[in-house]
Amino acid sequence: MKVVIVGAGIGGTAAALALIKHGVDVTVLEQASAFGEVGAGVQMSPNANRVIDALGRLDAVMDVAMHPEAAVATSWNTGEHLRVIPYGEHVLRRWGYPYVHLYRPDLIAALSDGLPPGVARMGAKVVRVREEAGRAGAELADGDVVWGDVLVGADGIHSIVQQHLHGDKPARFTGNMAWRGLCPGDLAREMEIPVVSGLCWGPGSHFVNYYVGRRGQKALYNNWVGVVPYDGSAIESWRAEGRKEDALRDFEGWYPRIRNLIQAAPKVMKWALHDRDPLPFWSRGRVTLLGDACHPMLPFMAQGAAQGIEDGYVLARCLTADADPEEALQRYQRNRMERTAWVQEGSRRNERVFHLSDPDEVAARNARLAEEVKTNPDGVSADQSKLFSHDVVNGDLAA
Ligand SMILES: Cc1cc2nc3c(=O)[nH]c(=O)nc-3n(C[C@H](O)[C@H](O)[C@H](O)COP(=O)(O)OP(=O)(O)OC[C@H]3O[C@@H](n4cnc5c(N)ncnc54)[C@H](O)[C@@H]3O)c2cc1C
Repeated sequence: MKVVIVGAGIGGTAAALALIKHGVDVTVLEQASAFGEVGAGVQMSPNANRVIDALGRLDAVMDVAMHPEAAVATSWNTGEHLRVIPYGEHVLRRWGYPYVHLYRPDLIAALSDGLPPGVARMGAKVVRVREEAGRAGAELADGDVVWGDVLVGADGIHSIVQQHLHGDKPARFTGNMAWRGLCPGDLAREMEIPVVSGLCWGPGSHFVNYYVGRRGQKALYNNWVGVVPYDGSAIESWRAEGRKEDALRDFEGWYPRIRNLIQAAPKVMKWALHDRDPLPFWSRGRVTLLGDACHPMLPFMAQGAAQGIEDGYVLARCLTADADPEEALQRYQRNRMERTAWVQEGSRRNERVFHLSDPDEVAARNARLAEEVKTNPDGVSADQSKLFSHDVVNGDLAA
């Protein structure tokens, strides 16, 4: 069996590792000239780390990962703690794998270093998908066609493979814009920023921050993302450098730690957030999708990359369990679509919870959180538990 993967992001790279582990011959086609990741921080939850372990890359990932002690939700203007969920040893004991924070270039390097030489072909931009009886191919900009028994689109939110299957339907601008920056680790430590997963809820906006890029005992940066409403009109590119004074204006009145983190970033980026409704199908014939190509979502459950990693493992299991590749791709989508649609919808639901502005609704939300922590001492919600416990490595595959 030969599989061609379009895209060497986190999803495509993890899928290649999973297929190789299952004895499949793989070629990955990536338009960029080298492995790399845009953006700075990424959180990896136990469900993703379980897969990374099965791929043999857990030690490499843990070498550069930060281990937050807790997830701490705070109020935007007072910094008062609204909810503290213990992470660290607690998560490790309960789910067998840790919850960690990573610098994106570190994660992609830790994964891609596990690929045998020759699997990834860089500078290979796919311009068209080709289908013939019994095979599928990726046509490159230079006219070359790379054929396989199966073709997988892991080519991100603006996927050309997704377009091939579903027509040209642009992703939806969600009305949210993310400011992103990196505060140097030394400065963050001087500000006494704790090693936690920080989440701060304000009216119509929220702010996330955590350390990334462990070197020895210290982290290179405190990564932050501040999400604000936006009409989208002034963002020419979906990611572009912005002005710090504009970011500070969007976080006017927020408690000092938030504003200090923005102030300390050498540059700030702005990023328009897009998603899609769940697709009606992922697989047709010998062509399928994974990761953001089929389920791009708001980052409000921190699960986009994690779900792509799960996809790749399930795809590899289905392709090696079923003799007929077309049947295997149908089985793959049957095993994945419900879960990823649930995460896409949950991420949209979280937008409403995080961004409440009506004082009565805010008070009711905060009281509910306080109650949740009282009745459930480890503070982990039913949704998080459903996310973290899902085991695509050892769990049964549906028929
Ligand atoms: C602000 C923010 C924070 C986030 N935080 C988290 C988090 O904490 N945890 C988490 O799990 N997820 C998080 N996500 C989501 C996560 O970043 C994405 O879901 C994930 O990176 C998608 O990976 P992918 O491999 O599917 O797609 P991509 O990363 O988009 O990779 C696609 C690859 O395909 C290549 N490609 C595209 N077109 C072609 C072509 N025609 N030919 C050849 N190659 C091509 C691209 O160059 C790229 O390398 C966050 C997202 C955002 C915006």
